[in-house]
Amino acid sequence: MAQRTQETITTPPTVSRCVERITLPASEMPRSWYNVQADLPFRLHPPLSPASGKPVSPAELGRIFPPQLLEQEMSGERSIPIPEEVLDILSMWRPTPLVRATRLERALRTPARIYFKHEGVSPTGSHKPNTAVPQAYYNRQHGILRLTTETGAGQWGSALAFATQMLGMSCRVYMVRVSYDQKPYRRTFMRLYGAEVLASPSTNTQAGRAVLAENPDSPGSLGIAISEAVEEAAGREDTNYSLGSVLNHVLLHQTVIGLEAKKQLALVGEVPDFIYGCHGGGSNFGGLALPFIPDILEGAPLRAVAVEPDSCPTLTRGRFAFDYGDTAKLTPIVKMYTLGHDFIPPASHAGGLRYHGAAPLVSALLDAGVIGAQAVGQSEVFAAARLFARTEGIVPAPESAHAIAAVVRQAEELREEGRSAVILFSLSGHGLFDLAAYEAHLDGKLADFAYPGEAIAASLARLPQVDEPVA
Ligand SMILES: *Cc1c(COP(=O)(O)O)cnc(C)c1O
Repeated sequence: MAQRTQETITTPPTVSRCVERITLPASEMPRSWYNVQADLPFRLHPPLSPASGKPVSPAELGRIFPPQLLEQEMSGERSIPIPEEVLDILSMWRPTPLVRATRLERALRTPARIYFKHEGVSPTGSHKPNTAVPQAYYNRQHGILRLTTETGAGQWGSALAFATQMLGMSCRVYMVRVSYDQKPYRRTFMRLYGAEVLASPSTNTQAGRAVLAENPDSPGSLGIAISEAVEEAAGREDTNYSLGSVLNHVLLHQTVIGLEAKKQLALVGEVPDFIYGCHGGGSNFGGLALPFIPDILEGAPLRAVAVEPDSCPTLTRGRFAFDYGDTAKLTPIVKMYTLGHDFIPPASHAGGLRYHGAAPLVSALLDAGVIGAQAVGQSEVFAAARLFARTEGIVPAPESAHAIAAVVRQAEELREEGRSAVILFSLSGHGLFDLAAYEAHLDGKLADFAYPGEAIAASLARLPQVDEPVA
């Protein structure tokens, strides 16, 4: 009898621990990606050639992308199988845990049940290897063993460096100059995986030299670094280019996040009322939210919100228009929310969220009112990050902390309304490479900088003039 009592005493903590952290066995990893294009009530506009302004030809894109990725970019198939070799590498860290943030809930005294999908457990610390691995794989399948890319904050460069290393390929990374100088450890990290890292603008490309001729001290931007990486890939037979966000195939690869989260929530009998993800180019938000889009389209009371910084307010203050993906106008023109291709956002501490454009998929869903968008300021973001670190024990990437700030607002609103709800958000990465930003925050040296309306209007005035094709 005494023994039984002991059992009932020890049981509850065990149960509550496993409810706080919902893990899936490797056998439950998704075997296919989910392609939302199969379920959309509208068609995406085809990308236009920067040269002709007409829909871009597969041959043009074939200079920098392998055919399998181009096929996925345009595919209408709902479900696309993940190759075995890709699954094998993803299983080094996937499925990632879904965690109930009970300590954060208690600190906020909210009746909301908050869950986060922890993508910071990947080898490079963010969600980005989810697409770096298949992108490198399809290039290798096509006989391409060398990739170029750009990186802003360093997470994408690290992910592609990791993926190319796993697959026996090589990789050159154009790293935005400010990050290159501010984040030496990111450089070391990429080099450790065997990648070559150049500061952008560089003297290596025409695009880089043109920028340096005008401004030798240019801090660089993602738009410029993309131009350099694309120029090099287009000019070399043995080299392709790889992009870490924005494109349809990138969001497709990231749907493993949402597919796993859906299963994990179902295991504890939960259905989300709110989904939050930070938004730079749309890949972690899309990866989490896209598998839930059919539910929203069928009328589920679910609100999915992309959260961006007010210093780079693409979705909330940009225009849904055709624009170039890069500064030198080398990439296709796509219909997306944009601040203008030559927009240079202020140097904030969320480098991963400083892109002028947005994923065409996220843009079209926002324009159609299927999802929402919200902008938050830097000090609110860092306060939320600190609260998260002090309650859940994980230092979030400053990018991810944008989602946390929105979740905190939502949880507080629910507390005021005395209403319970399930909030799901994407913890897109950890912030252990971002401690300089956190030091500035702790020392009270971080400023808020909402972008002035005139500057946005000025860069929007330079959007390309194209005849809108019939979709
Ligand atoms: C790159 C990055 C982002 C922003 O990119 P998305 O494509 O919008 O996801 C957000 N969080 C982390 C940790 C990143 O590395």
